[in-house]
Amino acid sequence: MMKSTIRKSTYQAIYRLLDLVSPVPFDCGNLCNAACCNCGNDDEDLGIYLLPGEDKLHLHDESWLHWSSEKAEDFDFPDSWKGKVYFVRCKTPPICPREKRPMQCRTFPLTPHIDDNEVLSLVWNDTALPYECPLIEEEFPLDPKFIQATYTCWKHLIRDPLIYDLVKQDSKDRDLEE
Ligand code: SF4
Ligand code: SF4
Repeated sequence: MMKSTIRKSTYQAIYRLLDLVSPVPFDCGNLCNAACCNCGNDDEDLGIYLLPGEDKLHLHDESWLHWSSEKAEDFDFPDSWKGKVYFVRCKTPPICPREKRPMQCRTFPLTPHIDDNEVLSLVWNDTALPYECPLIEEEFPLDPKFIQATYTCWKHLIRDPLIYDLVKQDSKDRDLEE
């Protein structure tokens, strides 16, 4: 796995902070049959990738997860990403140990963006997805506590050069598409 500068204890603190918040004050999975938790179906492409170092929080034999690893170079990750990237898929979505959800689940439906002036913001997740998220489609007002906590966590995470490179690459791609 790639060397991460984010300590396990920092990831734990991030998870704990995000455990306290939710994008909306109701179970939005009822709106869409938990469309974003679809990685348990047969489509192998729908894995959740773990950020560099995030794998330290998860056991490879956890009963609710399938693990796989791929070479970063084989995917559209930044050039600085070299070596193993871990992908996980849930066995019984949308049921999972909530306190163990990976960062990719926790930040959705937002995603971090770094602009040309190096200012970090959160924007709607605009990745081409094989499903529609009603929160994104309707630009549903999200809980400010969720937005604040998620922002704080990304502010810490992008101090890691590899995570910074990922967010910056996605942001540049986004700007080009606009
Ligand atoms: S975040 Fe969006 S896609 Fe996921 S459960 Fe909520 S409404 Fe559905
Ligand atoms: S970890 Fe939980 S929230 Fe994330 S995709 Fe799996 S079942 Fe859904």
